[in-house]
Amino acid sequence: MDQTEFLIQHLTEGKSYEEISRANDIPRTKLTEWWETGIDIRARIKRSNDAFNSRVNNTDFAFFKEKGKRFFFEWYDKQERKCAYCGIEEWKLEKLFDFEKGILDTKRGRGRKLELERRDAKTNQYTPDNSLLACYLCNNHKSDLISEDDHIKYFAKPIREYLEEKYSQMDNG
Ligand SMILES: [Zn+2]
Repeated sequence: MDQTEFLIQHLTEGKSYEEISRANDIPRTKLTEWWETGIDIRARIKRSNDAFNSRVNNTDFAFFKEKGKRFFFEWYDKQERKCAYCGIEEWKLEKLFDFEKGILDTKRGRGRKLELERRDAKTNQYTPDNSLLACYLCNNHKSDLISEDDHIKYFAKPIREYLEEKYSQMDNG
């Protein structure tokens, strides 16, 4: 049991300090310390849990729901923080779509984060093999009309060029 494992068990499996302390013979004070110093790990788990919770009642999320938050985190946390189609990095999206300083904005505040997307929208389940992280523009554009291969072949490159061009127009000083 280390800090990461403690935070994963606590935050994705819902185990209490008491349970974890007893099962692993670790004093509660140690767990408190792990909690307090685990800001980055907690943030990674929180974003995974947020993605999980926002879909958990959808029928197309039944696979991950059945497997649970821990399984989902272990998949989600391995994904690169860039669009799997066009390659734009998430930190650039955060700046481009920033509420105050960004130069792009969407009605419902989408865009700042990579979105969970099905590679093949016609098979209607999110599974590790059928899921990836995509930027808002790629996700929105691809919809369920365009196949993954066609999107990459015809559209991903100009979307990236557009986003990079917009980013370069910002005052990033
Ligand atoms: Zn993209």
